[in-house]
Amino acid sequence: MSIVGKIISEHMRARPLAGLRLGFCLHITKETSVLVMSAKALGAKVALCSANPLSAHDEVAAFLYRQGVSVFAWRGESKKEYEKCIRDVVDFKPAIVTDDGGDLHTACHNAGAKILGGTEETTSGVKRLLALQSSSRLAYPVIAVNSARTKHLFDNRYGTGQSTIDGIMRATSVLVAGKQIVVCGYGWVGKGVAARAMGMGASVTVTEIDPVRALEARMDGFAVTKIADAAAHGDIFITCTGQTGVIRKEHFLKMKDGAILANAGHFDVEIDAAYLYSNCKRPKDARPGVEQFNVNGKKLYLLSKGRVANLVLADGNSPEVMALSFANQLLSILHIAKNHAKMEAKVYDVPPAMDDKVARYALASMDIGIDSLTPEQRRYENSTLG
Ligand code: NAD
Repeated sequence: MSIVGKIISEHMRARPLAGLRLGFCLHITKETSVLVMSAKALGAKVALCSANPLSAHDEVAAFLYRQGVSVFAWRGESKKEYEKCIRDVVDFKPAIVTDDGGDLHTACHNAGAKILGGTEETTSGVKRLLALQSSSRLAYPVIAVNSARTKHLFDNRYGTGQSTIDGIMRATSVLVAGKQIVVCGYGWVGKGVAARAMGMGASVTVTEIDPVRALEARMDGFAVTKIADAAAHGDIFITCTGQTGVIRKEHFLKMKDGAILANAGHFDVEIDAAYLYSNCKRPKDARPGVEQFNVNGKKLYLLSKGRVANLVLADGNSPEVMALSFANQLLSILHIAKNHAKMEAKVYDVPPAMDDKVARYALASMDIGIDSLTPEQRRYENSTLG
């Protein structure tokens, strides 16, 4: 993650986060430890909790604790413990909060915490913050890191596309080639998952509610249909929508014996796991992270209790893409530390100059040079006559 290293070395001397308390709510992976240690290196005091009860890597949490970070997280938290860990980060009195999903922002708002500004990593979290903004309840400025092209085009698409398939393969050991895979949602995550699955030889069907994205999926070479029709023929279902109740009772009842259900979206609401748990009281543990339910005499396999498969069953997104996401996070935190007094309580996109800087650093780290406009091309671009 040399891009993050470059940002640190640029700011090391000034230590712009000295004296600031930061609160992080992120999936606790080795990549997250790089972001947290970077904030510490630039002078911040840091508290950290997990953005999902099942995704923390305990060895990373223990490492960060030994480095002086206030860590409130372990793998396998109950819902109550998860919420308490978030409240512990709020009680740390952070000035800047960095969240993945919006639970920490919500807790800060509920507690009336005094926050200078925040950042948000993922699509679902940004949606929650925009809802707060539109009801005039957003209490501090937030930079939507997900809005950066260097975030969603790479982390959501290539990162989550690959790591979701990786999680499913590690957990089930199924052969992807020849399978009928149904991808629900053709946003950035869905596009990535569908492309990787197709590349590995699966026949991929996409379901959508957005007509333009459905058309895009069709022209990208995928079958497109309603989930009610796809339910009967899928071998593996992967939800990537950020919506609730996408796969539910009427779909489970139609599914083939042996169908596998996985979710890549932020919250565990896309597959109606509550129906499965209430109708099949004692699911069988088929393998670690794989529960077998009996629905109408047919076996259905739910992965990671319907929670993010790439982070619970595998290592999450690779360092190459997380370097892009976390470079945006670090620059956004620095931006807030410097400019919060001039910012309003609203959701900001990542400034384009910051986005470009991250891309340029990433290209440089890959030893790739690109062209720039010649003076003639610049004049041509600015001329009105063409
Ligand atoms: P997006 O908004 O780009 O795409 C979501 C798509 O789902 C949209 O095209 C939307 O029309 C479609 N959709 C909504 N409801 C649907 C339904 N009922 N049926 C079918 N399609 C439906 O969002 P994204 O960036 O692709 O993110 C999707 C989810 O993944 C979010 O929850 C996001 O927070 C999460 N995410 C997870 C990871 C990870 O590491 N697992 C990484 C990035 C994002």
